Parts: sequence; C-alpha cells; structure tokens
Amino acid sequence: MNSEFKEKLREMLRSSDGLKVAFDLDGTHALVRPVMVTRLNAEKGTAYTDHDADWDFKNLDSNYVEMMRHYSDAWKHQWRDIPFEGYLELMRELSKFHDVDILTERSKHDERITGGTIEAMHEYLRHHGADFLHVELCEPGEQDKLKTFDYQVYVDDSPSLAKKIEAFENKLLFLPNRKYNECVPERKNITKVCGPGEAAAILLDETFRELRRRGQANGQVSEQIRLRTSK
Ligand SMILES: [Mg+2]
Repeated sequence: MNSEFKEKLREMLRSSDGLKVAFDLDGTHALVRPVMVTRLNAEKGTAYTDHDADWDFKNLDSNYVEMMRHYSDAWKHQWRDIPFEGYLELMRELSKFHDVDILTERSKHDERITGGTIEAMHEYLRHHGADFLHVELCEPGEQDKLKTFDYQVYVDDSPSLAKKIEAFENKLLFLPNRKYNECVPERKNITKVCGPGEAAAILLDETFRELRRRGQANGQVSEQIRLRTSK
C-alpha cells in the first residue's frame, strides 16, 4: 500500500463511523474469465488460456459481444465451475464495521449482455456461503459504478474503472493483480493487492488501528490470515 493511499484511507476512517465498501464480483471474487475462454476454445477449436487474454479479449480474435455471450452462458450453465476467491471470515468481520456490498454489472433486461445471469449469481453466492453480502446491481451502459453509487472504497479488477477513478479523489480503489491490469500504475487513490482477501485484511487492519486510536478495540488481523491472503 503506497503511503498516500494509506494516509487517505486512514483519514477516511478517522472521519467516519463506517465506510461504504464495494467488492466487485467478476474477475475479483468470481474468476469467470477462464470458463469464458474454455467456452471460446470449444466453439472455435483454439487453445487459448486465460493468461493469453487482454482485458477486452480482442487479442483472442474475439470481441465484446461474442465474449459477453460466453460470459452469460458461463454463468447460466457452468456457474459451479467458476472458482470463488474470497476470504469469508474476513468479509464477515469487515461487515461488522462497514457497509460491505457486492457491486456487480448485470443487466436486468438486456439478454445480449449479462441477461439471465442474476439468479445464477445468487445461487453461486449461496453455494459459497457468501450470501450474507448484499448485492447491488449496476446496469451496464446505463449506470456507472463511480458516478451512480456513493461507495468510498472499491475492490475491483477493472483497468477501465482504475482509469476513471483517477478523477474521483475521495474514492479509493484496491486493484487485485491480474494479467490484464498489470499496466495500471499505483496512484494516490489506487493500490494493488493480490486479491480481495488482501484488500479485506488491509481494511480490517486499518479499522482496528483506528479503533485502538479511539480506545475502542484491541483487535488485529492474525498473521496466519494475512499470510494466507497474501499468496
Ligand atoms: Mg470485474
């Protein structure tokens, strides 16, 4: 965590009794892209891996609309195959101090984009024991995760969100390290983490630090959890 980011986070915690925190789902907690690439390979007879894919899949000789079809089909037909990356004990603990939501782009009405995936997503979260988290839907193309919603902290793998958040000085982004976002530099409101678990661990650590400063708590994130989330 760079020092400017840390100071901004500490300032936010000092001046509030709880932050609004948005965890993204696709590519952050739900690693759906490998399943999309497998579906693309099956259809085209190619042998790409997720590691080959840029953010927009254009380098796989594909395009947004085609990949959104594979995305929707992955959620509708293969949600059990989508790996879940999350440290629920940390998320549960974090939820005691802050408003912690899943904020995900899903269309309620556009079948061509992410239509039909909402029920599967709820099944998926139930399956992984993460259904205690409130889910906020963001309509693709109509709503904007930064402009429409008043979260202060985002945990999101999107390089385009990272670009846009530069203009929002009072919002912070934890960016999980992924191949397709490695060109994004850290900035005063962007810090890189290995995954959502590390973001949750940092937020908890800093929350406990603030509570200790106020004389309200002695908690800390155990070294064992920290080691597991930093892999
Ligand atoms: Mg994402």
